[in-house]
Amino acid sequence: MIKDKEIRDEIKKIASGQVIFDEPMYLHTSMGVGGKTDILVSPGTVEELQHITAYLAGCNIPFLPVGNCTNLIVKDGGYRGAIISLKNLGKIEQEKIQGENVYICAEAGTPLSRLIDLSIRESLSGMEFCAGIPGSVGGGIKMNAGAYGRELKDIVKEVSLINSDGIMKDIPRDDLQFEYRNLDLPGKSIIVSATFCLLKGSEEKIQEEVLEILRTRRKKHPLSYRTAGSVFKNPCNMPAGKIIEELGLKGFQVGDAQISKIHGNFIVNLGKAKAMDILTLVDTVQKMALKEKGISLEPEIKIIGED
Ligand SMILES: Cc1cc2nc3c(=O)[nH]c(=O)nc-3n(C[C@H](O)[C@H](O)[C@H](O)COP(=O)(O)OP(=O)(O)OC[C@H]3O[C@@H](n4cnc5c(N)ncnc54)[C@H](O)[C@@H]3O)c2cc1C
Repeated sequence: MIKDKEIRDEIKKIASGQVIFDEPMYLHTSMGVGGKTDILVSPGTVEELQHITAYLAGCNIPFLPVGNCTNLIVKDGGYRGAIISLKNLGKIEQEKIQGENVYICAEAGTPLSRLIDLSIRESLSGMEFCAGIPGSVGGGIKMNAGAYGRELKDIVKEVSLINSDGIMKDIPRDDLQFEYRNLDLPGKSIIVSATFCLLKGSEEKIQEEVLEILRTRRKKHPLSYRTAGSVFKNPCNMPAGKIIEELGLKGFQVGDAQISKIHGNFIVNLGKAKAMDILTLVDTVQKMALKEKGISLEPEIKIIGED
């Protein structure tokens, strides 16, 4: 545990007050689970972020960037190190217009929902598929978030990263290693901002598509509970939810964690679930899928911390 007063004081100085020590992560994860992190720091500027990462790296303190924590399970023993929340970096700028293309640059902490609102207001098409994805720009790009056959990689033009020394670099899309639900980042890089390429379109059409997607999500997903979205990646074009349903696991429960009765690939927190309950469900599903169907299910959710 990082209890060293000198380190704590220095981080407080760099982060101009936006730092909490020994913070329970269940207060921050969409799933509502997670023990304490030694440090939760939310830099207010990119320069502050650069200083903090360089300082943490220099002290050999592990750190992890997060956005909205909607794809994250923090184990019950918490995280030994610093969780760096990008939530205060939320500036959006229109970069340029080139024919039908409009380039929008958004900082990593910008909620995807804010970009969708902007795209409706400004009649810009391309982001509609992100409707209902509760993540941030940084988390979305790291996860190459997607739905309805589209992924963020389809509309990203460039991503700005800082490395663990706090040095910034702009990387064009063609040099980024996007995969299904992952962007392979070099070392301990943190996404600082991204430029998206959107197309001039019709406000009415964009809004209708967004509303249609939100209606579909309300029907298919257990949105009245705390969740982390899809738990497993879909293996070779087969929906993981269907596999879990065929295994008869819908409604299966450990503690207050339950495989959703509505959608097999969601785990819901019925109230007081612990990370351990969720991880036991994940393990049960994986073992049954392998034993009964010969299918290896890989988690899409990110699991961090100590038991
Ligand atoms: C109700 C619900 C519906 C969902 N639907 C979808 C869906 O349709 N499609 C989909 O793909 N996902 C979906 N998700 C999952 C989740 O919202 C997405 O993966 C989202 O993009 C994660 O963003 P975040 O900001 O919450 O990331 P976090 O959960 O905060 O982080 C996720 C990962 O990204 C890393 N990360 C975060 N920020 C940065 C950064 N700035 N630089 C480098 N790494 C970073 C973290 O370290 C972590 O490994 C859903 C989740 C919920 C709760």
